[in-house]
Amino acid sequence: MLANLLQEERRFAPAPDFAANANVKQDAYARAEADPEGFWAEQAARLHWDTPWNAVLDWSGAPVARWFDGGRLNAAVNCVDRHVAAGHGDRVAIHWVGEPGDSRTITYRDLRDQVSRAANALVELGVGKGDRVAIYLPMIPEAVIAMLACARIGAPHTVVFGGFSAEALAGRIQDAGARVVITADGGYRKGAAHALKPAVDAAVAGLPEVRHVLVVRRTGQETAWTERDLWWHEVVDAQSAEHEPEAFDAEHPLFILYTSGTTGKPKGILHTTGGYLTQTAYTHHAVFDLKDGDVFWCTADVGWVTGHSYLVYGPLANGATQVMYEGTPDSPHQGRWWEIIEKYGVTILYAAPTAIRMFMKWGDDIPKKYDLSSLRLLGSVGEPINPEAWMWYRGTIGGDRCPIVDTWWQTETGAIMVSPLPGVTATKPGSATRPLPGVAADVTESGYLVLTRPWPSMARGIWGDMERFHETYWSRFPGRYFAGDGARRDEDGYLWLLGRVDDVMLVSGHNISTTEVESALVSHPAVAEAAVVGAADPVTGQAIVAFVIPRGDAVPEEQELRAHVARALGAIARPRQVLVVPELPKTRSGKIMRRLLKDVAEDRALGDVTTLTDSTVMDLISKGLRG
Ligand code: ATP
Ligand code: MG
Repeated sequence: MLANLLQEERRFAPAPDFAANANVKQDAYARAEADPEGFWAEQAARLHWDTPWNAVLDWSGAPVARWFDGGRLNAAVNCVDRHVAAGHGDRVAIHWVGEPGDSRTITYRDLRDQVSRAANALVELGVGKGDRVAIYLPMIPEAVIAMLACARIGAPHTVVFGGFSAEALAGRIQDAGARVVITADGGYRKGAAHALKPAVDAAVAGLPEVRHVLVVRRTGQETAWTERDLWWHEVVDAQSAEHEPEAFDAEHPLFILYTSGTTGKPKGILHTTGGYLTQTAYTHHAVFDLKDGDVFWCTADVGWVTGHSYLVYGPLANGATQVMYEGTPDSPHQGRWWEIIEKYGVTILYAAPTAIRMFMKWGDDIPKKYDLSSLRLLGSVGEPINPEAWMWYRGTIGGDRCPIVDTWWQTETGAIMVSPLPGVTATKPGSATRPLPGVAADVTESGYLVLTRPWPSMARGIWGDMERFHETYWSRFPGRYFAGDGARRDEDGYLWLLGRVDDVMLVSGHNISTTEVESALVSHPAVAEAAVVGAADPVTGQAIVAFVIPRGDAVPEEQELRAHVARALGAIARPRQVLVVPELPKTRSGKIMRRLLKDVAEDRALGDVTTLTDSTVMDLISKGLRG
């Protein structure tokens, strides 16, 4: 490996007062290692079970595990009712902020009543245990209510991000076999009402098996109406707020969720109830060090796994108070997030590197205008966080006092797997540090991250395609889970995620990671964001082609950036070409889609673009490269 930037020793030890008070102590690692099943049983016991399990883990049907076999529970009761029963009905569950400035405050009691009403409505519409329901909503409380109502009646939900096209939505409805779709007339994004219902109309036009479309009124915009359509406020509000919940088997399907599609066609990942809820609740408590009085804000959309695990199931299972925001960070101004943090006294912020780099690009003056002193912990998820962005997040947002938890996990893992424990694990910018207690990870000789032991929130399959599940994750290294990410372990045993296995570049016989070259570029003051690909090259096999977005008003200079990378990583990593672009192609969940840049760099037709945020970006980039 190259001597590089990431190895620069910038270690942040935990603050002693924080360590004394942390929810999880240093000894958790050793205890979990000595008895992993006992450790997870202890975590499962934090939930309410109607029937206790017979066995913690049955791995005889590997790679499909059965966790807490024989146990029965209701996920919605765990997330809502039990907190009301414990006397916390008046506690705020969600401070919701609409993009236009409207807001709603929802207590745990309100949530219980609304989830019960929605559950009764679904039953009335003929939805029963095991039936799939598609949810295509903006970031409004009804998204959470709908998910929990499904969970309450044992109907697996499949949430589709509200920005996906009709085609992408239709594919997911069909693949999941959903008979009911829950949507809204529209939502607010970037300062305007953005219609959702027309995409549903187009998606279900060719799907006669969809019986009902339940529509939340959010924007009040005109919408076409068919005999399948029903208004949420007519059907749900008329229901009783009493609903008798049933307990389901621990392995009863909870949801199907499609991956981000960063590396190819999205996969419909199946999660079940008991293990998933155990690990999301545990990790939310341990990694975010949740305390009474915290105000937690996970900025992810419910349409991807971070929203499922850390906006819905984990925090609500822990009875947390949260912020939920409908819109984009720049509406109506670029300080919107900081304004929300100031107003609600947010203590824990969980966001993606893509957002952090965008704020860096916008400049420090914006967050500096707000009082961010309520923050005490910062999280990152979704992509490797470049050390430069990590330092910025820590200093400018965290005031150099908040620990940062860089959390590695996937749709398939269901919950956080690799992350520091705040106050316990010393951090290094750019490293997700080490596996959490109860989790076992390794790096193969070939440099791949593998998980070596089953974990409670592991995927139970790809919906309708167990063969692909087996082949994608469990066949390369028998008995071990192949995550598809490259990684390195340093001399302290810390893990560094180096990008997708498919993205590793081979230049003149040397393996070079996209993450490292990107981090070198982002460490240059003129660069806010970078994406790097290996393009076929007649001389070197592959050559590095970099795409960069300028920071603020800076004008990055190609030769200077090429030399900067060579200085940081060695001459072998010097990009053949550096292109300055206005935007990078990203998935809806904010990840850079390098495969599309590679298609451009190699002059090929673009692969699957259904999860791309903005298709015009690719035209601009192609022109830049060829023109
Ligand atoms: P697809 O599987 O369809 O290609 P995807 O992998 O982007 O899409 P997700 O499940 O949303 O779909 O993302 C998981 C991936 O995100 C991980 O495999 C990893 O590559 C990346 N990732 C998430 N968190 C981190 C992190 N903290 N550090 C580095 N990489 C991360
Ligand atoms: Mg993936």
